[in-house]
Amino acid sequence: MSNKIGVGVIGATGMVGQNYIRLLNDNPWFEVAYAAASPRSAGKRYREAVAGRWHMGTDLPSRVGGLVVEDAGNVHAALGKCSVIFSAVDMEKESVRKLEMEFAAKGFAVVSNNSAHRHTEDVPILIPEINHEHCDIVPAQQKHYGWSKGLIVVKPNCSIQSYMIPIHALMQKGFRVARMIVTTLQGLSGAGYPGPSSLDMVDNIIPYIGGEEEKSENEPAKVFGKVTGGRIVPDGTLSISAHCTRVPVIDGHSACISIQFAGARPSLEEMKDAWRSYRSVPQELELPSAPRQPIIVRDETDRPQPRKDRDAENGMAVVVGRLRPCKVFDYRFVGLSHNTVRGAAGGAILMAELLKVKGYIG
Ligand code: NAP
Repeated sequence: MSNKIGVGVIGATGMVGQNYIRLLNDNPWFEVAYAAASPRSAGKRYREAVAGRWHMGTDLPSRVGGLVVEDAGNVHAALGKCSVIFSAVDMEKESVRKLEMEFAAKGFAVVSNNSAHRHTEDVPILIPEINHEHCDIVPAQQKHYGWSKGLIVVKPNCSIQSYMIPIHALMQKGFRVARMIVTTLQGLSGAGYPGPSSLDMVDNIIPYIGGEEEKSENEPAKVFGKVTGGRIVPDGTLSISAHCTRVPVIDGHSACISIQFAGARPSLEEMKDAWRSYRSVPQELELPSAPRQPIIVRDETDRPQPRKDRDAENGMAVVVGRLRPCKVFDYRFVGLSHNTVRGAAGGAILMAELLKVKGYIG
């Protein structure tokens, strides 16, 4: 019998859910013991529920293929099967909020891709390299809601890691970004399956993604915030203006970024050095899903590109390039991260690994 920690995926049949099933198949600490989705899939074997819509480039793991999919709304069905719930359901926000609270009240550690709890002041938005210490709000969260071992942590929006991690690397070297303008070019898988129709997307760009610009502008303040008195106090010193667009790329969110520093300004070489040498707690702890090189700097004039760079470090690295002076702000560059891996399932698995090492999952 396996001594891995049993985990459940709710929304297991979707774009993010399938990435969980693929990535967890090789995880040395966690094993999928529970899969749930909408009532449309409930009662089917997982392999039947995803027949004709398995979008991973690897075969469906046979053990998970045989699991019977449960209705994600039935919390009791997960009891005794797993202790961690990866939440990737696409439902109305208030229903997700309640469902995740219900799982936590029943003792599950909920690691969510959904935005429903991103504004709950004692629920951390984690990027483990940046704000690993925000995990330590968990005891206050458990006390507040009366949970014995349940907890909720959430991932940020999938588009922000391509600039948050490079900005954090600069902060570690003492350079503080005050203002930035970002234009994202977001892949189709970010809209879930089946996403926008081919007639809308081929030969086209959609210059609007509902709610995305607000998330891109507001979530960084909470990620960079401080845990004080059982809540996370946002750090509003970075002003961001975001334009978010949907482009005909399958996976990978690119971002064109102009930044202006507050105070000292690094040279171009200092910026590249800060990125190349960047390491943080997930690397020090050698968490299984942590990229050894979290930021990869490409010097070619035509990189990063989604097709060539999104899978760097198993899709967990941020790839940056085209660093150059900006005529309006100080510098500009292009960042890229894999939206369903670093921006969703892979990033959330890394969060769960951090929670395990810190003793909140086990
Ligand atoms: P998706 O491909 O549309 O998958 C949605 C999943 O939710 C499916 O498993 C679906 O089950 C399930 N579901 C739908 N309605 C449900 C209901 N009423 N009750 C229970 N389960 C239900 O969406 P996705 O792209 O994987 O996104 C999932 C979540 O992750 C969303 O909140 C999204 O905002 C977030 N997210 C997505 C990305 C990304 O890059 N795609 C990145 C970060 C965060 P059936 O198959 O049975 O319908």
